[in-house]
Amino acid sequence: MEAIIKNRPGHGAEFIKDLSEPIVGKRDVLIEVAAASVCGTDRELYEWTPSAQAFNLELPVVIGHEVSGTVLEVGSDVTTIAPGDRVALESHVPCLDCYQCRIGNAHNCLNMRILGMHVNGGFAQRTAVPESIVVKLPESVSLEVGSLMESAGVALTALARSGFAGVGGVVVVSGCGPVGLVAIQLSMLFGASHVIAIEPNPYRRAIAESLGAQVLDPSDDVVDYVRTVSGRRGGADVAFEVSAAPSALPTLLEAVRREGDVVTIGHPGSKIPIDIAAYINKKGITLRGVFGRRLWSTWEDLSHLLASGRLDLSWLITHRLNLRDFDHAIELLTGEANKVVLFPNGVLSDNQ
Ligand SMILES: [Zn+2]
Ligand SMILES: [Zn+2]
Repeated sequence: MEAIIKNRPGHGAEFIKDLSEPIVGKRDVLIEVAAASVCGTDRELYEWTPSAQAFNLELPVVIGHEVSGTVLEVGSDVTTIAPGDRVALESHVPCLDCYQCRIGNAHNCLNMRILGMHVNGGFAQRTAVPESIVVKLPESVSLEVGSLMESAGVALTALARSGFAGVGGVVVVSGCGPVGLVAIQLSMLFGASHVIAIEPNPYRRAIAESLGAQVLDPSDDVVDYVRTVSGRRGGADVAFEVSAAPSALPTLLEAVRREGDVVTIGHPGSKIPIDIAAYINKKGITLRGVFGRRLWSTWEDLSHLLASGRLDLSWLITHRLNLRDFDHAIELLTGEANKVVLFPNGVLSDNQ
């Protein structure tokens, strides 16, 4: 079958036509992949950046971790999923047995493996994955939207992690890639009074503006603007750092108000010094991080929001490509594109 494989450390990834069919273990689910969205992390893996190397991939591996599809077959011990189910995949594979898994933090499992990094992922016609990461899609949610839930779930988790601190208040979102844009969309949906987006790319800035955000370039006086908008609050209630730019965090620590929240989502490629006395102790900022989704509340809430029609994600998709166009997909990510989705078994004809 056809797949995109990362064979060895270094630049690139390979399109191959003769990968052997996945082996379906007792607790595995075999999926015919419908849609697999390309993530900024896939570009990092392709370019073999320091943050890609930090994931300690188990090579060779089929990459792709934002996946939806239809179940073809299940292993003998699988009880919750059946052939024909339309599903999306969580990308963090928890062991379900360690301390963190046992106390409800399976998203931060001590033995965590990641789809498309340590186990074969979704840039393939078929993939076999543990039952534990398979999520049934609501009937009204299309398979292509299903492939967006993994990344959109990061945004929802970030809002939840702040205790939804932006409700009725001022939110700053630094970085308007897909996760940042969904953070803007959800903040508007959940009732922020102002959402201020910071993004250097004019194309992405325009999308943020269309979602209702007030947009700034990182070279603008962000702190002054946020303080003006927030009035007597003295700063934003919460800021989300999605860009991974090392220069972003110091600005956000200035831009939030006393007792405000900063949630970091992007992984900077280098260490960032923080003035603990000024920001954490005296200003009282709560700094938290997000890596992935919360299992399973994020999936439950996101599924419900999508099924209700209150949240639409389909607008995120700007490009639909075949698997063999992966190199082009990677190029698109740095240009005027939002979500680039690969269809390993052919582009879906309509909104299936
Ligand atoms: Zn991703
Ligand atoms: Zn675990």
